[in-house]
Amino acid sequence: METDILTNIKIEKSETSKLPKNGVNNLKFGSSFTDHMFICTYKNGKWQDAKITPYQPLSLDPSTRVFHYGQAIFEGMKAYKDANNDIFLFRPDKNQERLNKSAVRMQMPELPKELFFDGLTTLLQIEKDWIPTAEGNSLYIRPFMIASGHGIYAAPSDEYIFMIICSPSGKYYAKDVNVVIAEHYSRAANGGVGAAKAAGNYGAQFYPTQQAIKKGFNQIIWTDSTHTYLEEAGTMNVFFRINDTLLTAPTSERILDGVTRKSIITLAKDMGISVEERRVSVEELKEAAKNGSLKEIFGAGTAAVITRIVKFSYKNEEFALPKVESSYADMFKKHLTDIQYNRSADKFNWRFKIL
Ligand SMILES: *Cc1c(COP(=O)(O)O)cnc(C)c1O
Repeated sequence: METDILTNIKIEKSETSKLPKNGVNNLKFGSSFTDHMFICTYKNGKWQDAKITPYQPLSLDPSTRVFHYGQAIFEGMKAYKDANNDIFLFRPDKNQERLNKSAVRMQMPELPKELFFDGLTTLLQIEKDWIPTAEGNSLYIRPFMIASGHGIYAAPSDEYIFMIICSPSGKYYAKDVNVVIAEHYSRAANGGVGAAKAAGNYGAQFYPTQQAIKKGFNQIIWTDSTHTYLEEAGTMNVFFRINDTLLTAPTSERILDGVTRKSIITLAKDMGISVEERRVSVEELKEAAKNGSLKEIFGAGTAAVITRIVKFSYKNEEFALPKVESSYADMFKKHLTDIQYNRSADKFNWRFKIL
């Protein structure tokens, strides 16, 4: 892949700033955006025209491919400020690698690593005043790629746009959630795109999730195609604590390989907690709930870090989890955020400082 012009990012600064007078702390997650965005295009077989511009709408032809055939992928990451106003990312190399894995699966062009990192770090340097400092706040970063070529014949696009936008976000108040275990709908299929961070995976989840909400639940725990094994919780990876063992499904072509998930596994092993990456069946979970060995269920992902699941339902049976003392969920959340906000040693070299 040619990468000649890539590190040459044109910068067009916004003349005015939307930076709120009373600061960027405690804003609603994902709802306001910073002054600038990064954008580059793929054309004639090459990534080109990398620039930072004022945040602005795109003008797209109605026949633009993404509208018709859904070639759209994204990433989700965060920038954190420490007590000295130093800025850190958490394992951004993993997001960069995963973006390209998603691209390959969706027949989209891979983005060179240097372009991803140059765009990201240049944008963050310009937007550093937008990174909140209040406890639990961060700048949510959304890199994404869409098919921007024209024509409604069903074929992959020959042009693409890659962009990065940023949203200052308040403490993600991760409420305890109740879940329905999927017994009909699926988020991913064998041989499908479940392991890609493809936009359509989210679109396909909204209807079944809304059905669960109507029944008084918040989310769905997705199962495999036979609805036998537990796979993901909503848009998060899912962990179970049975007795003192931590269990999570192995990644597969149906499961998103989460950065939070893999970090929790590493931390758990390092702390001497027994971890098993293996399939967990609905039957095993019900049995553990009945005999009291099921201590915790939680979802793991960048946005909320950890979301505790306190009740699950399966085929009209409901199981409530008892409160535990010294919860794994709380412990991992503290460990992870201490590393992310530069409050603890970085034993695994996960922090990435923005200079
Ligand atoms: C993004 C995502 C996750 C979490 O991944 P992180 O890298 O931890 O943020 C889990 N499951 C799905 C389906 C996702 O889209």
